[in-house]
Amino acid sequence: MGALQSTDIERKDVIVSRNPATREVLGEVPDQGAAEVKAAVARARAAQKEWGELPVKERCERMRRFRDVLIHRAPELIDLLVRECGKTRTEALSMDVMTTIDLATYFIKRGPKILAPHSISLHLLKTRGSYLHYVPRGVVGIISPWNFPFAIPMGEAMMALITGSAVVNKPSEITPLIALKTKSLWDATGLPPDLFQVVTGRGATGAALIDSGVDFIHFTGSTAVGKKVAAACGERLIPNVVELGGKAPAVVCADADVDRTAKALVWGAFANQGQVCISVERVYAHQSVHDELVEKVVALTQKLRQGDPSTAGDFDTGTMTWDHQVEIVEERIKTAVSQGAQVRTGGKRAGTGLAFSPTVLTECRHDMDVMKKEIFGPVMPIMKVRDEEEAVRLANDSHLGLAAYVFTGDRQKGKRLAERIEAGTVMVNDCLLAYGAPEVPFGGLKQSGIGHTHSDQGLRDLCQTRHVNYDRLAFKREMWWYPYSDKMYKRTLGLMKWLFR
Ligand code: NDP
Repeated sequence: MGALQSTDIERKDVIVSRNPATREVLGEVPDQGAAEVKAAVARARAAQKEWGELPVKERCERMRRFRDVLIHRAPELIDLLVRECGKTRTEALSMDVMTTIDLATYFIKRGPKILAPHSISLHLLKTRGSYLHYVPRGVVGIISPWNFPFAIPMGEAMMALITGSAVVNKPSEITPLIALKTKSLWDATGLPPDLFQVVTGRGATGAALIDSGVDFIHFTGSTAVGKKVAAACGERLIPNVVELGGKAPAVVCADADVDRTAKALVWGAFANQGQVCISVERVYAHQSVHDELVEKVVALTQKLRQGDPSTAGDFDTGTMTWDHQVEIVEERIKTAVSQGAQVRTGGKRAGTGLAFSPTVLTECRHDMDVMKKEIFGPVMPIMKVRDEEEAVRLANDSHLGLAAYVFTGDRQKGKRLAERIEAGTVMVNDCLLAYGAPEVPFGGLKQSGIGHTHSDQGLRDLCQTRHVNYDRLAFKREMWWYPYSDKMYKRTLGLMKWLFR
């Protein structure tokens, strides 16, 4: 690491990782091809055999070793997250590392209970018993994005490993070093190295992973790539979860505590430089609080301290991670302004590297691109609405449905509005946080995805669910067996009428 100069020409067979704040080269990784991916999956499959046969409790105990290494060596991870992503130290700790350690702790503790066989009493067939049991899938492929390059693959990896599968992760080409660092921490635990592997590369490496014979794919990324991934999985009948883009609306009611709402929105829109699938991406503010809200949001935004987070100092916000994403943000703002939006603060790059000033746009209309298309950057567009009905209608007028927020002084009303919003997760009077609760399912509606991660059910979904049906009472013969007869028909008809009378 560090031997390359930033002037090096990008080669096709390697991927160069740079610090987005300084553009300094941090390292390079190979762009691995299909043969290497296949070999990794074959090694993972071999390692999984013994791992999958261990009792869940034993696997959980062993996974605790990995969790403990992560706790002890968290500062190394955080340092690299800051340098490779441009995120602040506090966000690297709280949003990437701590959430993952909490998730691991939850599933290590609860895993044996969640994955215990589950009996189902049959309402009609009283002579038979049924139960479900959960069997490891085999090899789980995880294809992950660059915005939370530790939390996203590792949350899913922890869960899959606890279920007894092996994991092969294809991280984003923008942040491959975090994944390799995580792999080195895994290897330091003494657990079988092949059980958790990382293959580095571009999109083709992800496609090769789907084609390598894996038993399950967990994809997190854009809706455009997610559709390709779901189609590729469909062709091969590989079960999959796709967690895709978002365009989270925030509905601000007339009775909202404007001061608290402004603080929540500023955090919800600008944390991780707005590169969060559940970032506040559009605000619908009731006309009676709109002006006061805008004033407070702008004042708070202007107070945010921005800088290179890898240098000493207290920063609230760092830099964006990927130059292409900065260009998307610039394009969204330019188009919005040409359509009549006003930049109340920000709107431009900030200093060196990929820093972009937190931006507040007002005079937004629902038909603008900035209110419809994912931004994935530090931009908060605000629109004035007549009433809450209009806000809910516009919130639902989207092809995406990942997360949404409602701000109100009336908790019951908040819940009622939340239930009417078409999103996988709706929070009342806060933002973002729900992703960090491992016990609740996280997933999108509409084009924001299919399936869930997290939650007890999410853990079971990472397994094959198998059903066993057995005899509780056995007679010499059962009444539904051969031979059929008119007498049997009439008796069954009578029975049906009596049962469903
Ligand atoms: P992309 O969809 O561009 O990439 C995601 C991953 O897929 C990367 O590892 C990428 O590799 C890989 N990939 C690209 N092409 C293919 C292919 N044909 N087959 C298989 N894999 C492929 O997303 P980003 O990394 O840009 O992440 C940002 C997006 O992720 C945003 O839309 C955001 O909303 C969404 N997201 C969703 C979350 C959720 O939980 N719903 C959470 C976080 C982000 P490479 O990078 O090397 O091209």
